[in-house]
Amino acid sequence: MEWLTVMSGASRTIKVFGILASNDIHWVNEDGYMRQVGCVGNGCPRCAEGDRKQVRHTLGVIDRKDGRPKLMSVGAQVIKAIHDQVVGRDLDRMEFTILRGRDRFSGYEVTCRKSKPLLKSEMGQIIEFLSGLVGQIFKIPPVREG
Ligand SMILES: [Zn+2]
Repeated sequence: MEWLTVMSGASRTIKVFGILASNDIHWVNEDGYMRQVGCVGNGCPRCAEGDRKQVRHTLGVIDRKDGRPKLMSVGAQVIKAIHDQVVGRDLDRMEFTILRGRDRFSGYEVTCRKSKPLLKSEMGQIIEFLSGLVGQIFKIPPVREG
């Protein structure tokens, strides 16, 4: 399984084929990198320390750069931006460009444009990709931001 990460100051264009999971997480500083750690809910030690949990969503996407299906971990800001642009429209006829700010405080900019629906060959790749995820999907993504 392959994760797509947009690097600081860069952008990637994706086609979204689904929200595959939503998890509560905490950000933990590890050697200067912020790493996601799953919130365990009741009795969570990080919650007990007053660290606010955040929801992260795992999207299934086609990376337009190489045409391959990947997972992408996004926060509330990106999900809301995608949702706002999809309302009343067909997700399969849209693609999104996600531009990441230069530092971790500047956030993301999401733009969308019309695109052709997924091709049969892409559907085939997605089915193969999803079957490879069986039993793995609820693991916390190894995404680092820093
Ligand atoms: Zn927690």
